[in-house]
Amino acid sequence: MKVLKFGGTSVGSVENMANVKDIINDGTQKIVVLSAMSGTTNSLVEIAKNIKALNPNAALQSINTLHGKYTNVISKLISEEALKNEVENYVSERFNFLKVSAKKPFTQIVENEILAQGELMSTFMFNAYLKQEGISSTLLPALDFMKIDAHKEPSFHEIEEKLSAVLDAADTAEIYITQGFICLDAKGEISNLQRGGSDYTATIIGAAIKAEEVQIWTDIDGMHNNDPRFVEGTKPISDLSFDEAAELAYFGANFTPTNCASCKRRRYSC
Ligand code: ASP
Ligand code: MG
Repeated sequence: MKVLKFGGTSVGSVENMANVKDIINDGTQKIVVLSAMSGTTNSLVEIAKNIKALNPNAALQSINTLHGKYTNVISKLISEEALKNEVENYVSERFNFLKVSAKKPFTQIVENEILAQGELMSTFMFNAYLKQEGISSTLLPALDFMKIDAHKEPSFHEIEEKLSAVLDAADTAEIYITQGFICLDAKGEISNLQRGGSDYTATIIGAAIKAEEVQIWTDIDGMHNNDPRFVEGTKPISDLSFDEAAELAYFGANFTPTNCASCKRRRYSC
């Protein structure tokens, strides 16, 4: 089985979700790991910051703005009335949870619970969308198998065992959808694999199921010679050795370029 991970931009609009659907709907069984819709985790971080700063009204305002954005996406994504109600209800529950959290005293647990809502919503919405399009899919809740230990490292054997049990118990489907980023910690509280952690989720799952391949899909046509968000006219690299790719990956798929040691310009290296 393959594991395919799609980032926030890929699930950030109805058009992009339709593209993801076309990519994954090739008749083979796979696990699809999704991030939160683009911008969501940043908004959730802001909401948590406002709660921490004892500014629940600012938090509530951001929660309502974000809810509006989701309602808009759902109205375009799901046309079937019953399914749309189901998705709207789920998303409203998540936003109600955020509103309740805004009134709680701030703790790390409250923050982690807030940050988890983005992936919970994107996967629920996308799974419903696949159902609407007649594609066989099932949600695998990441919180049922993704665990980190007291050192915040993945509890690999537990993940392997739990994921295998979750897959056995799940309705057989062609596409299994799960949340990137989120996990439970050693105490069973909601936690995460740090910002950008969905790629890590995909590779942990890939190792746990001994996947034939893990694919990290993103909104760029390959590995470029520089970061196009910062540098104009970048080009995809035609060949990259495993070691070079590993070095880049070590700095994170979304690595922020620092100044090159030799030319002092803002790039990874010359
Ligand atoms: N949604 C999380 C983030 O924005 C995880 C991820 O996208 O990989 O950091
Ligand atoms: Mg990423």
